[in-house]
Amino acid sequence: MKLFTVGPVEMYPETLQVSGTQLPYFRNDEFSSIMKENEQQLLTLCGCRKGRALFLCGSGSAAMEAVVACSFRRQDKVLILRGGSFGERFVQLCRIYGIPYDELCLQELEALRKEHLDAFFQNEYCALLVNLHETSTGQLYDIQLLSAFTKAKNMYLIVDAISSFMADPLDMDQMGIDVLILSSQKALALSCGLSMVVLQESFYRDMVEPKDDICLYLSLKEHARNMERGQTPNTPAVGILMELHERLQHLQGDGFVLEQQRIATRAAYFRSRVQKLGIQLPHFPLSNALTPLLFDGDAQKVYQFLKKNYAITLTPSGGAMRERMLRVGHLGNLKLCDYDALCDGLREYGK
Ligand SMILES: *Cc1c(COP(=O)(O)O)cnc(C)c1O
Repeated sequence: MKLFTVGPVEMYPETLQVSGTQLPYFRNDEFSSIMKENEQQLLTLCGCRKGRALFLCGSGSAAMEAVVACSFRRQDKVLILRGGSFGERFVQLCRIYGIPYDELCLQELEALRKEHLDAFFQNEYCALLVNLHETSTGQLYDIQLLSAFTKAKNMYLIVDAISSFMADPLDMDQMGIDVLILSSQKALALSCGLSMVVLQESFYRDMVEPKDDICLYLSLKEHARNMERGQTPNTPAVGILMELHERLQHLQGDGFVLEQQRIATRAAYFRSRVQKLGIQLPHFPLSNALTPLLFDGDAQKVYQFLKKNYAITLTPSGGAMRERMLRVGHLGNLKLCDYDALCDGLREYGK
């Protein structure tokens, strides 16, 4: 079975080799130095010169929850860009934790424009919460637009880049991003269950450090205190941290840019081929992480056809888009010839 999903994705042989080995013990100097190396290399990849990287045991949503719970207070109103189910998750989190919020809602398949943001310009907000690539639709938001808005309004910019990291351009310092949320199973192509929060030091000092904890397991302060010596408050996802350590060695130097280019090349290659088959794509800007395909009510049939006849798993959609959209992932260990096979299957289905 070939996975054209967004997480878990096709893993690299080197990662699979690490994941098949005995876990080391972690309360010692050897593991601390692995953690510190992971932190430094991740900060470099994110373009964060003065910050912290924290490692949580839990999927990406755990990191989203930790950021909402540990950064904001009942008087810190935030603006949430809600363009799909991951934007909705930020809304749910703010509701649960009693953080006041406004929502910038996009209609189905509607592109974000400057006017959408302008409508909120007169209001006071502490931060903008956004999923840079709204994975449920495939839309990539214009980070320059978001960044200009938050700078002009002197707001913090909180970016869930879980599915955008490594697929699209990203630089925390350059783009004025205060907090970045990442997770293991997307472009890093690791096992599921590790998420990361990268914070600018100023955000940590001004927002996280002074706030009393309202949770323990996801406390960013507890993680930051422990991370000063390369440790975590509880048993971390030891195996995935070892996978990450191995993966980061490949992403050093120009490795990161090369992987970004490979993902972009797959996306461009597949899009040009699939459009020749007469399959429609949405008109909003797309992330290189995936290509959404639009169908006339038979998306599930296409999904089952490819699975049964071609051993190919695409990413199905939920909710209202269930029968109208399938998503084709470009992350992880995929080759251009894999897309040839997929296009053969799509052509065969269309006959
Ligand atoms: C995958 C993803 C998440 C995290 O989802 P989990 O199932 O908790 O890993 C969050 N935000 C975005 C944009 C994602 O693509």
